[in-house]
Amino acid sequence: MWLIMGSEKKIILVTGGSGLVGQAIKQAKQQDPRENETFIFLSSKDGDLKDPAATQRIFERYKPTHVIHLAAMVGGLFNNMKHNLDFLRNNILINDNVLQNSYKLGVKKVVSCLSTCIFPDQTTYPIDETMIHNGPPHSSNFGYSYAKRLIDVQNHAYHQQHGCHFTAVIPTNVFGAYDNFNLEDGHVIPGLIHKAYIAKKEGKPLVVYGSGKPLRQFIYSIDLAKLFLFVLREYEEIDPIILSVDESSEVSIGEVAQIVADAFQLEHGIVLDSTKADGQYKKTASNKKLRGYLPDFQFMPLKDAIERTVQWFNLNYNIARK
Ligand code: NAP
Ligand code: GDP
Repeated sequence: MWLIMGSEKKIILVTGGSGLVGQAIKQAKQQDPRENETFIFLSSKDGDLKDPAATQRIFERYKPTHVIHLAAMVGGLFNNMKHNLDFLRNNILINDNVLQNSYKLGVKKVVSCLSTCIFPDQTTYPIDETMIHNGPPHSSNFGYSYAKRLIDVQNHAYHQQHGCHFTAVIPTNVFGAYDNFNLEDGHVIPGLIHKAYIAKKEGKPLVVYGSGKPLRQFIYSIDLAKLFLFVLREYEEIDPIILSVDESSEVSIGEVAQIVADAFQLEHGIVLDSTKADGQYKKTASNKKLRGYLPDFQFMPLKDAIERTVQWFNLNYNIARK
């Protein structure tokens, strides 16, 4: 039988498939299906990927041809500041098990997930893909950062020694449905949404940590998921690619807090708690490489995406992670 180019059967194992990004990929692949693709979405209930034997069992069971590797210990600024060692060790173990089993089982392509918060703290802007290893990361999340940087080192080593096609994407701050809305441990947008939900009920102002001045580029989880599918299907490089909105879409934490407050129609405004840390002032990333591949990709405007996320949180309050 003749195989039509691109129609070979793919079994795509998504580690961390139950989380923010995994759930978005589930939705994106339903909107843009391919006949030859079968996706398997894992959660920690399928096995602890810190455990080499459990990881091997999962790979032998599903025999993936492709892997989207999302599973990680993930958290916002304040969780990272408290648990740098745990972020370092847990993520090193998970990544090593997933990549080594992918190699042993002959997986054709692995797309892992880095983050723009792993770049050097002292740097020039905008940050690009060549700068990952050019200096120490910000002290607040050095554990997570070094574990994630090692994925890039591993990808090149697996390619050099065994010819593996292991690559990675570098998203900016992600948010959307199924995020972690925990008040202390989550990222800023889900944290503010949950705080605004409570502030609305109690008729109080929204408390924003830090000075409100730090700058961030936010990407809606569904946009990120569409880009992940592009990388899985079409991106051939070992070097990673930044998945970010344009530099002109960078916003301050204060502006984001205002969008959240407006989405809840809060009547008592915003107050800043300057006793709390600001973290990295900015990590402005260039999406020039991405734009080279997809010049016309449309990102959902931040306000619309936050409103959708607020709507999801209100409708799913009982099941939301918090
Ligand atoms: P998330 O919502 O916290 O999801 C994490 C996923 O990993 C969950 O499916 C979780 O399973 C799984 N997991 C965690 N520890 C595991 C273990 N020991 N064994 C097996 N599975 C485990 O995280 P996310 O925001 O979707 O992040 C996905 C990827 O994007 C991560 O690699 C993260 O570093 C990266 N990233 C995230 C952001 C962001 O702003 N969120 C920004 C840049 C990059 P359970 O659901 O069963 O716990
Ligand atoms: P980061 O982008 O890796 O630093 O992680 P975050 O998503 O946790 O964003 C942290 C930035 O948002 C810092 O400047 C915080 O001071 C600010 N911030 C304001 N309110 C909150 C909040 O409720 N939770 C979190 N995580 N950060 C907040």
